[in-house]
Amino acid sequence: MQSLNTTLDRIDRKGYGAYKDLQGSHDFGSFTLFVDRVQRDPFAPPTLIRTRTKDNRFDPTLFENPVRRVAFEDFLTRMVEQAIWTIARGNRGSGGSGKMEIQSPSQVVIPRSAMVVTTEQIEARMAVGLPARGRTVDARAARAMLLEELPEVMHQALTPERVDSGAAREHVETVEDADHLRGLLPSLGLVAFVADGAILPRESGASDHPLRVGAKPFHSPEEFRGSVALPNRGRVTGMGVPEGVTLVAGGGFHGKSTLLSALSWGVYDHAPGDGRELVVTREDAAKIRAEDGRSVAGVDISAMIGDLPGGRSTEDFSTSNASGSTSQAANIAEALEVGTSLLLVDEDTSATNFMIRDERMRELVRKEPISPFIDLVRPLHHALGVSTVVVVGGVGDYLDVADRVILLEDYEPRDATNDAREVRERFPPRAPPGERREVRSPGTRHVHPSSINLRRGKRETARGRGLHAIEVGRERVDLSYLEQLAESGQTEAIARIIGAFAAGNVSREVREIARSALSAIREESLGSLGDFRGHPGELSLPRMQEIAAAINRVRSLEASTENGHDPPTRPLPYLDHEPWNPGEQDE
Ligand code: ADP
Ligand code: MG
Repeated sequence: MQSLNTTLDRIDRKGYGAYKDLQGSHDFGSFTLFVDRVQRDPFAPPTLIRTRTKDNRFDPTLFENPVRRVAFEDFLTRMVEQAIWTIARGNRGSGGSGKMEIQSPSQVVIPRSAMVVTTEQIEARMAVGLPARGRTVDARAARAMLLEELPEVMHQALTPERVDSGAAREHVETVEDADHLRGLLPSLGLVAFVADGAILPRESGASDHPLRVGAKPFHSPEEFRGSVALPNRGRVTGMGVPEGVTLVAGGGFHGKSTLLSALSWGVYDHAPGDGRELVVTREDAAKIRAEDGRSVAGVDISAMIGDLPGGRSTEDFSTSNASGSTSQAANIAEALEVGTSLLLVDEDTSATNFMIRDERMRELVRKEPISPFIDLVRPLHHALGVSTVVVVGGVGDYLDVADRVILLEDYEPRDATNDAREVRERFPPRAPPGERREVRSPGTRHVHPSSINLRRGKRETARGRGLHAIEVGRERVDLSYLEQLAESGQTEAIARIIGAFAAGNVSREVREIARSALSAIREESLGSLGDFRGHPGELSLPRMQEIAAAINRVRSLEASTENGHDPPTRPLPYLDHEPWNPGEQDE
């Protein structure tokens, strides 16, 4: 602390570059401050610092296994963020002067680079804007920031005396319960579970926080209600969504998309207070939507779409401008390629001609290459073990293919499977599809690193640009339609994975790129994703599905398909299981 003070005295009012002298480590008594990388001027990206405590006096059970450790790191990151809000003054001069930041967690709990907890120490990685007057060092403000605010932030957020131990425990236990519940799904024959009392609606279309006023808590229909025993919370009841084809029906504005969206976020654990803490879904679930205009590189969509105009084959389909239906077909094929056991489809974001084709249109339009999704959902389950939850308000033909129907009325779900059967008996069924295409896993593609050009001017770049875009060389890859991408740290991590692949010269399968990146991260840390000057900044763990989806959206991507089709992307373990018997789950 003394050395830092002396240095600040010496460099006061000098040119901003003199801050470089702070680089290195400084002993603050209870913690060590590392100044890793000093910004060039007050307007440049902020200075990277780390603070490392000299011990870890928190109850060791809070981080005794990997799931708890991730949860506890997430908790402490939120504590630091809150402490910064209350303690740091913020703006203290020109540019980013006075700014203090830690990676901001979204509603989900995932591994991040911001916080590292071990039995011996706790390390927080932050960014600060070193204060300037004009373009000169403002030592007085720097002293207030680094010698007063920062220690107070550390003290408030990272010492057991100041941290609410009940909240820490609840955080860790909540996450552990959700993780456990997700792990139980396959053995219960379920693809998702929605606990009674869950709050599904969000504050607004722009906020992922729970709706506070007027939210109707989830209440499972009796027919789907079961109970499961969780390690911390004990027994909870809720709606189990079994494997197979589940239809979510209901009038407009009755909560269908809200339910489906909650399921799509159920691949992640959530922080307490989110409302969806115990809404869990198979971790490989893929939300599928239409995305016209996207590019597609050599994807086998032949199971869904036959020959296109001009005799174009769809076993190796490429386009720089997909239509609504071909983009949705490509999204499904790519999800199967990387591996999924559950597709989530909402009519609101689907191409109509991909979802259904009625008899009159079949009569009128003879040359239709598309097998509508309605004819695929059953074979997808039978042949590939892939379940579907589909939201349909307008097309009754889906009643023919559903194993069960959840009807939403005033946000209240009820089992309408029997009613649907009666309706089916009264109205003639849809004529069977003409020609039936066999549904199989799409062939696996090798993508070529040489097709991704990282060069941008004199540099090579692959970096995240907020949540929804990646900049790869001179291309901006649009990820706006990846609905299960939770935070910009994931986007940044994905950019680095793509960068590392493109820098090599080995063609690889998309899922192999994703899988090997994730196993390297698991063995080392998110910091293994690059050579970082300073700490790795703001990285969060992405899923395989989003890594693959981002690679697939690089417009220059070239791929070649292996001849001969793989066995199903997943063996079919989910098909041999005891059926879900609501009400009688054992411990
Ligand atoms: P749908 O897809 O059936 O047309 P949405 O899911 O879009 O309906 O929901 C319509 C509106 O109702 C949204 O503003 C949503 O936030 C709200 N909503 C959904 N579920 C609930 C609930 N359980 N309690 C209160 N409001 C809800
Ligand atoms: Mg809707």
